[in-house]
Amino acid sequence: MSPLQAPSPLRRARPIPSDAPVWLFDLDNTLHDASRAIFRTIDQRMGAAVAQALNLPPEEADVVRRRYWKRYGATAIGLVKHHQVNLQQFLRTCHDFDVRPLVHADRGLKARLRALPGRRIVLTNAPAHYARRVLQALNILQEFDGLWAIDHMMPMGLPRPKPSLALMRQVLARLDVPAQRVILVEDTLRNLKSARQVGMRTAYLYHPGTPFSHQQHGRDLYVDVRVNRLSDLLMQAHAGHIPGIRGHA
Ligand SMILES: [Mg+2]
Repeated sequence: MSPLQAPSPLRRARPIPSDAPVWLFDLDNTLHDASRAIFRTIDQRMGAAVAQALNLPPEEADVVRRRYWKRYGATAIGLVKHHQVNLQQFLRTCHDFDVRPLVHADRGLKARLRALPGRRIVLTNAPAHYARRVLQALNILQEFDGLWAIDHMMPMGLPRPKPSLALMRQVLARLDVPAQRVILVEDTLRNLKSARQVGMRTAYLYHPGTPFSHQQHGRDLYVDVRVNRLSDLLMQAHAGHIPGIRGHA
């Protein structure tokens, strides 16, 4: 795997203590509620884009799409692998719409993120241009030090997104901090499991719209903290209630 580049900067560099935690935030269904409206639009656009790329009627394209999704965890991987579809172009077609009327997030998110000690980086399997637009629409782009998106996870031209262990190791190598100081905040359990396998800490944000999310209140062994709302996690972190994370209180 070719080395992961530094995350794209989203704001001017600021002084951060060298022993500060590094927060990795997933985007969809973590920083905002994508299930409420955005996913539906992406889904419709992706259906049309697959039919166009494969030159198939919508019903047949849908069968192929589901097959790749099951086999690779992402339709796009199958399209690149078996149909030489241009990934960037495909993702752009699926995600290129006005997100502003469709974004929903916790109130007070901006202030709570700002109060969070340490570095804050977005780590998403979505394309970078979409991530930036969602963060802008939520008015929180400036609260993040960097962004890693699917565009950065393309060793040898093929996407290797979360939960790839190789990706997780490269993230750690690029951050150059001990794994225990890095916390992945996510709604997708399998990504948290990979994070834990490389030694990161994990915060599970339960979202009922995420496939395979756990409804019960218990947590898996690879989950350090479980919350139902992102604001709860940010408040706990700020108050120093997360073991190993120094708060501001
Ligand atoms: Mg997510």
